[in-house]
Amino acid sequence: MSFLQGLRCRICHAEYPLSANHVCSACLGPLEVVYDWDRLARSVSRQAVEHGPYSMWRYRDLLPLPDGDVPLIDLGTGFTPLLRADNLGKALGLRHLYIKNDAVNPTYSFKDRVVGVAVNVARSFGFKTLACASTGNLAASVAAHAAKAGMDCYVFIPWDLEPAKIVNAAVYGCNVVKLRGDYDHVNRVCSEIADNFGWAFANINLRPFYAEGSKTLAYETAEQLGWRAPDHIVSPIAGGSVLTKMARGFEDLRQLGWIPAGHTRVSGAQAAGCAPVSSAFLEGREHVTPVRPNTIAKSLAIGNPADGEVALRTIRTSGGAAEMATDDEIVAGIRLLASTEGIFTETAGGVTVACAQRLAEGGKIDPDETVVLYITGNGLKTPDAVTTAGLSIREIPADIEAFEAMMSSAVA
Ligand SMILES: *Cc1c(COP(=O)(O)O)cnc(C)c1O
Ligand SMILES: [Zn+2]
Repeated sequence: MSFLQGLRCRICHAEYPLSANHVCSACLGPLEVVYDWDRLARSVSRQAVEHGPYSMWRYRDLLPLPDGDVPLIDLGTGFTPLLRADNLGKALGLRHLYIKNDAVNPTYSFKDRVVGVAVNVARSFGFKTLACASTGNLAASVAAHAAKAGMDCYVFIPWDLEPAKIVNAAVYGCNVVKLRGDYDHVNRVCSEIADNFGWAFANINLRPFYAEGSKTLAYETAEQLGWRAPDHIVSPIAGGSVLTKMARGFEDLRQLGWIPAGHTRVSGAQAAGCAPVSSAFLEGREHVTPVRPNTIAKSLAIGNPADGEVALRTIRTSGGAAEMATDDEIVAGIRLLASTEGIFTETAGGVTVACAQRLAEGGKIDPDETVVLYITGNGLKTPDAVTTAGLSIREIPADIEAFEAMMSSAVA
């Protein structure tokens, strides 16, 4: 694999060869991929990236992927719009606000970035079956990529997932298995299945590779800002991986000298009904205590986040903050983003918007900072979260008089 040296334990720094492995056998710590940064810096350039494809694969050399001439399984993920959000900015009192709209990926969430890496690594390691433990969006992405790769596919989900998300996975021809438990039960069973069946689980035994895919969100953001990092980002937190890896992504670019030296504050967003990281932050605790999720933001409903503590440390050391949003605030956040910026996001995006609002109102975001909110999933995944109450939807007879009457009564 191109610029990879191996795997290393985040806790005790023990080193391991590249393989489908995610736990240190010495201390049970999580493993991460290690790059040869000197060789990487000599071989890749900003200019080469700028001439690359309009997808996350323009950053192929910064990702843990098979060597350059192997064709990739590719659904066209990434290089999603970074949009100025002046209307929402006005509502939140922020003068330089941007939205990274990752709801427009091939399976309508940011998970295509992480699975895009995982599927190619799975193939290069010779796996025939791709699988995952999912809160919904990962299932759809794994199913779509397995279909494209011609791999067998099993996705494991909590029994109470939204119907739209189940269809969104099953349509690709994968095996959907609902487990009677919440995500944390699903994850535990899947760890055993990975061992017993020898399958590639995108977010379990391939997690060190999978997680790197999230960095492309930071890389693209910096490039789209004209090769500079934002002052402050607001990221949703489920397992804690995307927040942590985005922070690292900006650091990578600084280390390569592709963006100016500087500092990005990283803030986290969770639902009040599942806020193990945000509550630890707000209560000044060092450790993340698992919770039992109860929220409409099901794609963020991980009560025992694998990367919760590293996310918490990332938030603290960056000078960011964390917030949580109630179910009502989540729905209000979805509507606010839609009505100000024309973007319909799922409940996870509602969490991000609602938490950004709390952070701004609480003075945790400076009005003059360049701020990017990460909208990670599409509204059509969770349409039932938004009831029609309070929306302008009317039914009238099919004639012009009825419409004129409606309009004049509206004026009166
Ligand atoms: C998975 C997911 C997240 C959070 O990802 P983690 O890396 O697990 O924290 C955020 N938003 C959406 C829509 C997701 O599906
Ligand atoms: Zn270790």
